[in-house]
Amino acid sequence: MTAQLIDGKAISENLLSVLRQRVAARVSAGKRPPCLAVVLVGGNPASHIYVNKKRQSCEAIGFRSLAYDLPAESSAQELLALIAKLNTDEEVDGILVQLPLPDHIESSLVIECIDPKKDVDGFHPYNLGRLAQRVPLLRPCTPKGIMTMLHTLHVDLHGLNAVVVGASNIVGRPMALELMLAGCTVTICHRFTRDLPDIVGRAEILVVAVGKPGFIKGEWVRDGAIVVDVGINRLENGKICGDVEFDAARQRAGWITPVPGGVGPMTVATLMENTLEALEARELG
Ligand code: NAD
Repeated sequence: MTAQLIDGKAISENLLSVLRQRVAARVSAGKRPPCLAVVLVGGNPASHIYVNKKRQSCEAIGFRSLAYDLPAESSAQELLALIAKLNTDEEVDGILVQLPLPDHIESSLVIECIDPKKDVDGFHPYNLGRLAQRVPLLRPCTPKGIMTMLHTLHVDLHGLNAVVVGASNIVGRPMALELMLAGCTVTICHRFTRDLPDIVGRAEILVVAVGKPGFIKGEWVRDGAIVVDVGINRLENGKICGDVEFDAARQRAGWITPVPGGVGPMTVATLMENTLEALEARELG
């Protein structure tokens, strides 16, 4: 078997084009476009690349984008003061603070200061709690984008065995909540999990977010599985690869996401979707 590719790039372009039309319709009806504030504190080269992509995406679909690039030595108080200002700015719909933050700033403190109605990353405990209680509002972008991709396959997800490898706050945990919401039977694996190949071998849906190149061996993958590779790893030769051994896994899987061109573009497009949804929800009051 050779798996079919799940073309995240194409699916994200479709989503962006729908969003562009919705923004154009708003503007021709005399309403303002959505506005996303992107805050970067210091930042490693990867953070700069991600932030630039988000800002470019805003421009491409007619959103306003506000850029706040703070020096790495900024204090937590300075960052919190900026967030407080953005929280009360009626023209700002989404506030995104690029992670990771410098070590001297506690990210959970910062996330909790963002108005949940403008928390377009979906990381605020209120928004994660809503997802856990099956009444989601703003949902974390990477898992939500993966659900959008899965829905394009027109597979009934109810009752499928889903395995999520990686249990981070931003990907693995909310991913497990999304899959449960979709009716899957979910297993979450992390660094203390035993018998990983066995558990992976039972997955009808496998989502991997570990951050180690080629960590999931192709031979572990169940025949016909849907494999979603979230990992973004830069190799010494400059190439980007995922957490799954792509070529070998492709021989067994039914569907598989490539890296690059899979989950990455969906995350950015979903951030745009969340920003428009945040604006519309605030307009409804
Ligand atoms: P993280 O480091 O916060 O979490 C990694 C998780 O992997 C942890 O839960 C850890 O327990 C687990 N893990 C580590 N070793 C393991 C092992 N031996 N067996 C099982 N689990 C193990 O990482 P993260 O922020 O969730 O990101 C993971 C990867 O996804 C990274 O490569 C990151 O760059 C990428 N990422 C991609 C996107 C995207 O849009 N494509 C978004 C976010 C993160």
